[in-house]
Amino acid sequence: MLSINSLNRQTALRNVKALCPPLATILINTYRTNTNLFVDGESILSREGTTQGDPLGMAMYAIATAPLIHRLSSDSIKQLWYADDAGAGGTLDGLRSWWDQLSREGPDFGYFANSSKTWLVVKEEKLAEAKSAFEGSGISITSEGRRYLGAAIGTDTFVKNYAADKVKVFLDEIDKLTAIASSQPHAAYSALTHGLASEWTYLSKTIPDLSAILLPIEQKLHREFLPSLTGQNTFNQIKRDLMSLPVRLGGMSIKNPAENCFSFYNSSKIITAPLRKLLHDQSESLPYQTINDQIEAKNEVKKQSREAQTESSTNLSSVLPAPLKRAVDIAQEKGASSWLSTLPIAEHGFNLHKGDFRDALCLRYGWKPSGLPAKCICGKAFTVEHSLSCPHGGFPTIRHNEIRDITAKCLSEVCHNVGVEPPLQSLTGEALSYRTANSEDGARLDIKAQGFWGGDRVSAFFDVRVFNPFAHTYHNQSLAASYRRHEQEKKRAYDQRIREVEFGYFSPLVFTSSGGMGPTARVVYKRLASMMATKRSKPYSKTMDWLRCTLSFSLLRSAIMCLRGSRSRGGHPAHFKLEMDDGTIDRAICESRINTSPDTG
Ligand SMILES: [Zn+2]
Repeated sequence: MLSINSLNRQTALRNVKALCPPLATILINTYRTNTNLFVDGESILSREGTTQGDPLGMAMYAIATAPLIHRLSSDSIKQLWYADDAGAGGTLDGLRSWWDQLSREGPDFGYFANSSKTWLVVKEEKLAEAKSAFEGSGISITSEGRRYLGAAIGTDTFVKNYAADKVKVFLDEIDKLTAIASSQPHAAYSALTHGLASEWTYLSKTIPDLSAILLPIEQKLHREFLPSLTGQNTFNQIKRDLMSLPVRLGGMSIKNPAENCFSFYNSSKIITAPLRKLLHDQSESLPYQTINDQIEAKNEVKKQSREAQTESSTNLSSVLPAPLKRAVDIAQEKGASSWLSTLPIAEHGFNLHKGDFRDALCLRYGWKPSGLPAKCICGKAFTVEHSLSCPHGGFPTIRHNEIRDITAKCLSEVCHNVGVEPPLQSLTGEALSYRTANSEDGARLDIKAQGFWGGDRVSAFFDVRVFNPFAHTYHNQSLAASYRRHEQEKKRAYDQRIREVEFGYFSPLVFTSSGGMGPTARVVYKRLASMMATKRSKPYSKTMDWLRCTLSFSLLRSAIMCLRGSRSRGGHPAHFKLEMDDGTIDRAICESRINTSPDTG
């Protein structure tokens, strides 16, 4: 039996005051007077229940209804309450006396049962008996089924029809997003992955065997949404499967709902098992053991899900054509996908307009961007590879300088004496062992900062290099080997001179143009994030994610500039300005849902 009712606020507050004094003050302050609800420029007073979205709302319901629930408990029924929705299952006689008692005693607890919104769901063969048992109660009775807490219970047909009706609504929504994707792909992508997709995920978690019913969603995503989003006309199955991988594995997290529904349902069953047991036993408390069991269940599901994703990624990798495989390897680097998993909020510099978003996808997957000139100003063929390396227009320099400036700005928060392009002291007879060591007078590195590695007077020197991993030179080399090669080159040039002449430390900061970092750079930025986190009293992981995301967007914007910027004389693209005022980073992290290792569910 499912019942939607209302809870009187004043009585509820009295109950909370008696049962849970620590929570009473804030709830009384929130709900003592009637709340104004603003609808279309007019306001109405809210007197009942809690305000939607109030994080304390559920606690208020739970505490205020607890004495009533306790009084209603009996051996012939099992109760299930969610906020002010009351539910019970059991024998017909048991349910009738539960309902009568709820109607009779509820008002003393501020709880008013509403028979016109209450349904009794029974098996077909019990229908006549139920009608007579509930005669005069005003309750509606059905043997088909009812919607319940965002899912449905009842006959198989009823539940499947309920899901099918939901899917119709989802298909309309995907149509709208497909239309939006043609002009605002970044926004449409975020709306799908951060919003709409969770609707059918919820459905898959609550109703079993939805594969056939969800198939039209998959077909629409594959045939209409993805082409509109990416600007790519053809999407074969391999390409579609790639898009369903999580972004950290080189995909776009646009999962195939018809395939994923089984694992969603099973995961949900595993995670809710400890709570289901409590409901079955009608326990009135939440033991620590249950909380621990649930945490364990969640971790187990996460682990299984990660393993399954890695397996799909490995299987797919073996059938990808070589250039796409290389592109996916590069996209799997930590940091190379931050721009996809972050919400596109313009104020924080994390949004891409139509052309930029499609170009970013072309760079990610090695697809050919549309409308490129046939020849570069330098006379060579204008390919993506060429555009990322050609020095005309000064784009590689701008790309390098932006990373240098972002790093220097962050360093100046936590170190003394931070300088850009510090000149090195001239050599006066010191011998450097490497043939490629830089011994020039007036040699400069990119950044100098005091106290970075500890010791207030010791200087740390950094030099930035961004290389294009798609360039021909690197094709037969693993990414790890390419990073090593660049770090070694820089170290041979400067390490000894910095140690022996400047008495400092030298660290090469090597990046790929798609956002990956070399091993030394990873150590440096981890330390930088940890220092910034301590200074700002913020969690390290969030600060690191913000830093990664900021660097990743900078490199992405630079790559797009290389691709689209005017290489003729006088074309000077706008320089990105990093905002780091109080609160800006915090808001960026919170509003953009930055999380560079997302996606296991
Ligand atoms: Zn060129």
